[in-house]
Amino acid sequence: MAAVRRAWIGLGANLGDPPAQIAAALAALAAEPRLTVIARSRFWRSTAIGPQPQPDYCNAVAALETTITPEVLLARLQDFEDAAGRTREQRWGARVLDLDLLHVEGVRRRTTRLTLPHPQIARRAFVLVPWSEIAPRLVVPGVGEIGRLAEACDRSGLEPWPPSADG
Ligand code: ATP
Ligand code: CA
Ligand code: CA
Repeated sequence: MAAVRRAWIGLGANLGDPPAQIAAALAALAAEPRLTVIARSRFWRSTAIGPQPQPDYCNAVAALETTITPEVLLARLQDFEDAAGRTREQRWGARVLDLDLLHVEGVRRRTTRLTLPHPQIARRAFVLVPWSEIAPRLVVPGVGEIGRLAEACDRSGLEPWPPSADG
């Protein structure tokens, strides 16, 4: 039997109907064999990083338990992005769906396809703040405790998505 590992996914969208796409991605994850979604944050609105101008993002973080290997899980996340209509023209350009593998318990990777933990975690309020809602005491090796990092980060440009749209 393959080991069950806990994993955390960062979800983002800033084209089309962002909260609907985040909700659809969460539903697709929940329907995936060998994977259970055990928690998800609220939905958040964040100012886009990268080339400007760009619409605001809807962001969320989900916790999973899975026996899927990190490489296969990343490939499935990319399948979901493609199914949502993701195109890849410009680095950090606007997109209908972005699914990043933030951290997998007990795993470190540094290959061209996959870096774990995700290298940008500590710098991104739109990751840390939602993540701290579901895993404040989680310590990510080489990064720190998620709740503490969230408290210390710059939250400008970040606010809860209006509750009516929060899946
Ligand atoms: P960022 O990674 O800074 O958030 P991005 O999400 O816009 O930027 P993408 O264009 O979605 O970047 O992905 C570029 C490549 O990053 C992917 O092809 C993938 O192989 C690689 N990658 C490496 N580590 C990870 C990870 N932990 N999660 C998701 N993709 C990763
Ligand atoms: Ca990303
Ligand atoms: Ca990505």
